[in-house]
Amino acid sequence: MSVLVFAENADGKFKKSIFEVVSYAKAIAAQNNTSLIAISIGDVAEDDLAGLGKFGADKILNVSADKLKTFVNQAYASVIAEAAKREGANIVILSNSFSGRGLAPRIGVKLGAGVADGAVSLPDQTSGKFIVKKTAFSGKAFAAVELTSENKVIALTPNSYQVVESGANAPVESFVAEAKESDFKIMVKDIVRATDKVSLPDAEIVVSAGRGLKGPENWGMIEELADLLGAATACSKPVSDAGWRPHSEHVGQTGIAVSPNLYIAIGISGAIQHLAGISSSKVIVVINKDPEAPFFKVADYGIAGDAFEVVPKLIEAVKQY
Ligand code: FAD
Repeated sequence: MSVLVFAENADGKFKKSIFEVVSYAKAIAAQNNTSLIAISIGDVAEDDLAGLGKFGADKILNVSADKLKTFVNQAYASVIAEAAKREGANIVILSNSFSGRGLAPRIGVKLGAGVADGAVSLPDQTSGKFIVKKTAFSGKAFAAVELTSENKVIALTPNSYQVVESGANAPVESFVAEAKESDFKIMVKDIVRATDKVSLPDAEIVVSAGRGLKGPENWGMIEELADLLGAATACSKPVSDAGWRPHSEHVGQTGIAVSPNLYIAIGISGAIQHLAGISSSKVIVVINKDPEAPFFKVADYGIAGDAFEVVPKLIEAVKQY
């Protein structure tokens, strides 16, 4: 038995969430007194691959095939499941990223595994059971699910586990898996980045604004604050519905779920559908001119004030810092 972790990359580089997921997988391997194998698919530099050892991987499998250079859900799932079988891994860990959420159920089917996506902490194995705490109902609640199958697949919500760097580089092995033609029925031909800004699902800080901003012409201060903080910008649904901001920024039950270390909500009321997408944020700061706004109930810090006065002051304060 061993644990297998999928180390996904973006344009050949590992994101911070991958070091987090490898650290998490290492802790699960330690719980089970076994080794951790990482698998990477695509063009990642050998040094970066070996560097996963610093986060706990004992060995790294490198899959490099022209057809697998861009993400293909079905084919990646086949390769990861094949690696799990050959390496005798009965626990497969992924990030609960867009790709991870697509892969987890497919790998689950291939391995006959129980799947827990949206995991937020290490499994509880104290009673001989395997219980995973995960988000449920679009992030409105947490559920404790027991995985009773021999094989298990867990997708970890980003920003819910500490990166632990303690080891040294680990050996990298080439892994060749037979991908079936039927795995390539849908292929991504080209990916065009819509923006060079910080990607919202991966952002550690998010500056988000709602209808309280009155109109798209007022987003300059939101973007300025976000740039100063190295943050991604986001918005509420009515804002993107009105075309003030792109739909890719819409956060909530029907939009993107984020789990940053810091979520700053400006002129957003805090409707349940919005909160569904941000509930696993570590620290929530709310700026709203209505002290009764529901968002204040879930805020760690709140400023009851007019955004058009507070945000410029915040920008000045950040500039001083
Ligand atoms: P409003 O509700 O209009 O709130 C604006 C806020 O700004 C108010 O609290 C006000 O006090 C404050 N404000 C006004 N002026 C200022 C100022 N000068 N300074 C500071 N504060 C100010 N919504 C989402 O966001 N995401 C979703 O995914 C989503 N999915 C939905 C799914 C369904 C099925 C339904 C029915 C609704 C969904 N909604 C979603 C909509 C949601 O219910 C709310 O209507 C929406 O979140 C409200 O957006 P808002 O807070 O920007 O606007």
